[in-house]
Amino acid sequence: MTFLFMSANIPVNLYTVQKPLVGVTVENKSLTTLSHGPKNDVRHVVIRHKEKLPYLPGQSVGVIMPGIDPLTGKPHKLRLYSVASVRNGDFGDGQTVSLCVVRHFWDNPKTGEKGIPGLSSNYLCDLKKGDLVTLTGPVGRHFLLPDDFKNRDFIFVATGTGIAPYRGMLKEMFEAGFEGRVWLYFGVQYGDVVLYDKEFETYRKHKNFFYIKAISREEKNPIPSVIPTRENRMYVQVKMYQDCKALGETLAKKDSMVYLCGLKGMEAGIFPVLEKIGAEFGVKESFVAKLKAEQRLRVEVY
Ligand code: NAP
Repeated sequence: MTFLFMSANIPVNLYTVQKPLVGVTVENKSLTTLSHGPKNDVRHVVIRHKEKLPYLPGQSVGVIMPGIDPLTGKPHKLRLYSVASVRNGDFGDGQTVSLCVVRHFWDNPKTGEKGIPGLSSNYLCDLKKGDLVTLTGPVGRHFLLPDDFKNRDFIFVATGTGIAPYRGMLKEMFEAGFEGRVWLYFGVQYGDVVLYDKEFETYRKHKNFFYIKAISREEKNPIPSVIPTRENRMYVQVKMYQDCKALGETLAKKDSMVYLCGLKGMEAGIFPVLEKIGAEFGVKESFVAKLKAEQRLRVEVY
């Protein structure tokens, strides 16, 4: 079955906490080597929903883990994850949704305890084939591709598992004969944990696809006085600044778009680069404000 949507009939909130959908885990594979420890364990989890959960790449689904949250004594709250598959799912049969999940660990400032496994992400990362999963959603209308994407230019920026939505978006774009240009800036800590790297590498055969990786713990930022980064690490915003001529030419096109997805706070490092690009191309006011006002900037960070 093929799900076809225009922006007028985007599926939203078909399932809620009160009325969720129960899916079945059909695949859970590691996307990374574990050479850098459990923090870099990222999983691609495929859940079968039997054609009951229509969605678009760029939307998110909620996951409610079973049981009671020991911190609150109440049922677990839902956690949102971006869809990491095309709308027809990884198997093309319209029956599955895929998620990209990193094992999360957190530090408790009150107790001083460090490296506490995050409940929901570890639950998802440990799912086995056949395990049931309670889902809500889909949610989100703003991180979608526009209906008329075919000839537009796009700048996609991801940190870590924020790559999830671009996997489905890029596949759908190229399958639909995309004729604009698309940049993918992808920031990860190490060269052997570049999620879905082989898939993105295959798109290099398209001369309108530009794939740029920022490997923060292996490359140094050569321009820290211009684009400062933590401990002079190589971040996506540095690579973007290095490409500012090409990006400026693209952003000068009135229908080009910028998407940011990943770590909360990444926008603080990227917006100044967009401002610099705008200024170099003669934009007098805030370029970020202009992009927002023209609905050409989409941000999904959490
Ligand atoms: P991560 O490994 O902690 O970070 C990814 C890369 O971003 C690293 O190279 C990191 O560098 C770099 N980075 C850190 N701070 C940055 C900044 N201010 N600007 C630019 N780059 C920066 O990422 P993760 O653990 O995968 O976490 C991804 C985030 O995406 C999570 O917060 C998650 O909630 C969110 N998210 C996930 C999904 C999903 O579907 N799973 C969807 C949307 C958003 P260093 O660590 O070397 O400093």
